[in-house]
Amino acid sequence: MSDGPFGRKEFRAVVDAEIAPHAARFDREQSIPANVLRRIGELGWWGAILPVEAGGSGMDMVTLGELHEEVGRGCSSVRSLLTVHSMAAYAVSRWGSEGQRARWLPLLARGEAIGAFCLTEPEAGSDAAGISATATRQQDGGFVLQGSKRWITGGQIADLLLVFARTGRGVSAFLVESDSPGVVVRPVHDMLGTRGSMLAEIDFQDCRLGPDALLGPDGFALATVVTGVLDIGRYSVACGCVGILQACMEAGASFTAAQGGRTQPLSSHQLVRQMLSQMVTDVSAARLLCRQAGELKDRNDPQTIMATWIAKYFASTAATRAASDAVQLHGAAGCAPDHAAQRYYRDAKIMEIIEGSTQIQQIKIAEEAYRWTAR
Ligand SMILES: Cc1cc2nc3c(=O)[nH]c(=O)nc-3n(C[C@H](O)[C@H](O)[C@H](O)COP(=O)(O)OP(=O)(O)OC[C@H]3O[C@@H](n4cnc5c(N)ncnc54)[C@H](O)[C@@H]3O)c2cc1C
Repeated sequence: MSDGPFGRKEFRAVVDAEIAPHAARFDREQSIPANVLRRIGELGWWGAILPVEAGGSGMDMVTLGELHEEVGRGCSSVRSLLTVHSMAAYAVSRWGSEGQRARWLPLLARGEAIGAFCLTEPEAGSDAAGISATATRQQDGGFVLQGSKRWITGGQIADLLLVFARTGRGVSAFLVESDSPGVVVRPVHDMLGTRGSMLAEIDFQDCRLGPDALLGPDGFALATVVTGVLDIGRYSVACGCVGILQACMEAGASFTAAQGGRTQPLSSHQLVRQMLSQMVTDVSAARLLCRQAGELKDRNDPQTIMATWIAKYFASTAATRAASDAVQLHGAAGCAPDHAAQRYYRDAKIMEIIEGSTQIQQIKIAEEAYRWTAR
């Protein structure tokens, strides 16, 4: 564990005191209270990915991964909000014009503006190239945005929307303020998991944008902004899955070690220990894969993209398995309302769908095998 103002020890202490004890309530009430969002700002966690010059905390990617792991251990909904906010902040910092950076980065760094990532549509999820939202160029250089985005994490509270739409030149990225005329936000409730992450469907109806809303090169967002931002999101989710794995292991070990009125504790059964041994192995392996992806990011090594696919694929599938076993180890108690194990189970399944589903990752990773053998 690293020490210092931004170290795993500090993250763990805050999560244990201020997030994990309330995660069942966040899940039940399907929202994260404003005081928690403010506290995340005080801690510098909204701006974790942003450089100090931009008002951020300037964490390296390994440290950012540790933060998202620890938050994910306590509450996947809070981690999800951090993920999409970090994606939006990263996009502005990497592809923003001077004006966009000056306007948005200080607000995003402090969490005074919350960011969301708006790519998925009713007819386009895994196939990002299939989006049909349009941004039509106007004579004054601005755009008119039309279309619908779905399953937008943080959409209920976001101030700044990173929206992808087709212009005449291809897919482009836009910065859209959520209170702009023509932006219609409809909350989505009762999802399987990450219920506190305040999802929304967002329609853009004749939404007028100034020329300064365009982020990055017109028509090239799929190869630039989408690819780069999804890599950050995927890394964050992978690290969050390590947190779920750790939480499952800790919950399973402490429950089965306790006597609880039984003649002998559950830990005396070998089949119980088998489930725990799988969790211990998976959490160690997933953490190492995330660390490798983070170190490659810190060195700007392009191999981080594949390392992140692999880390997310392994960590999310292992988290689903561990969460299923965590419920199993607790028996009926693990199925009870508000029990952490059933929340881990519901949250973990979501991780196999977002930021590239399990099947999409299998396809990507298999391609790598053919590249290796062709060398
Ligand atoms: C809780 C939650 C939060 C989300 N937050 C956001 C957000 O903030 N912003 C955002 O833009 N989106 C968000 N999403 C949407 C998410 O990114 C999509 O759900 C995801 O990309 C998958 O798209 P889809 O749901 O349309 O499924 P589809 O792409 O239709 O896939 C359905 C199934 O088919 C499989 N499949 C698809 N294509 C292939 C293929 N070529 N080969 C094999 N199998 C395939 C998939 O693996 C999946 O099992 C969120 C989703 C959830 C559940």
